[in-house]
Amino acid sequence: MKKQFMPFITFITALLFIAAGCSQSPQAKETPPRMAAAAPAKKDGLPNVKILATGGTIAGAAPSKTSATEYTAGAIGVDALIQAVPEIKEVAHVSGEQVVNIGSQNMNNETLLKLAKRVNKLLKSDDTDGIVITHGTDTLEETAYFLNLTVKSDKPVVVAGSMRPSTAIGADGPSNLYNAVKTAAAPDAKGKGTLVVLNDRIASARYVTKTNTTAADTFKSEEMGYIGTIADDIYFNNIMTRKHTKDTDFKIDKLDKLPQVDIIYGYQNDGSYLFEAAVKSGAQGIIFAGPGNGSMSDAAQKGAVKSVKSGLAVVRSTRTGNGTVTPNREYEKDHLTASNSLNPQKARILLMLALTKTHDPKRIQTYFNEY
Ligand code: ASP
Repeated sequence: MKKQFMPFITFITALLFIAAGCSQSPQAKETPPRMAAAAPAKKDGLPNVKILATGGTIAGAAPSKTSATEYTAGAIGVDALIQAVPEIKEVAHVSGEQVVNIGSQNMNNETLLKLAKRVNKLLKSDDTDGIVITHGTDTLEETAYFLNLTVKSDKPVVVAGSMRPSTAIGADGPSNLYNAVKTAAAPDAKGKGTLVVLNDRIASARYVTKTNTTAADTFKSEEMGYIGTIADDIYFNNIMTRKHTKDTDFKIDKLDKLPQVDIIYGYQNDGSYLFEAAVKSGAQGIIFAGPGNGSMSDAAQKGAVKSVKSGLAVVRSTRTGNGTVTPNREYEKDHLTASNSLNPQKARILLMLALTKTHDPKRIQTYFNEY
């Protein structure tokens, strides 16, 4: 090569180099596609992960190994859960705490507040690097979304459960617990909001939902996709665009009660009387699980309008299981808000928290659009 071309070639090479750096998407910069989980060579470098146990099938026991549906949920304690997976000690220093030991169908606002306060307190301390919560799967997504909106830390919080009791052949609890601890111990799990780990998938609490009554692959993030996957290592693939944890308006540390919000299902031949019953029983908000795009029969709309006149907030969600409920002028004029892509049970969680701040439908709509 002629000597006079050399500076030019060096210049072009430098340009290509810079261009390659600039063309990298912000997502690629923030979350490198392949992220090995915490597996430091030095044992002392392991993070401290606290396991808060609340019960569920993961702590369930049945009289026979072949029984996957007839069992007692919340039968074994947190120490037994940890002892069943000694391998977790290779990825983190773990300690356990029993918050409650119940089937998650019995999870209520009081326990939810207790759990969220405990998580916030633990995460304030330098002694806790991440938290795993074991939970029944039936209402797991509600607790996870509540934490996603109320935890004031960017340290990892991971919720895990199982579909088969601890005594079953092919119990999924041990691997889900191991993966959850591994995720909570991973530095790159920070700042992603509350995560849900089951069946080798890492999902955002905002998007994941239980889709099947008994199958092990019941938790799905349809439409929006998973945050990551686990195949020995941890692979984070997506970033969260919704506001969560430190970026929400909600602080629960001084709350000892949440406003009552009820869910009313929409169906052919429905009426207004369930709205009246909710108002009478002291509800401050109602989620309407409507057919399709949150549509309402004339009778349901009449009930909703009456509820709004009595001072309640009414949010239209959908019973379809997927999609966005769009604001619609016909309903907006009646001050009814739309749940965006939140299913009814998660819309209830957000409306309870929204009502601790405002009753203004416009502000409530903004929360639904952003969270
Ligand atoms: N009924 C149980 C519960 O939610 C089901 C489960 O954990 O899979 O606690």
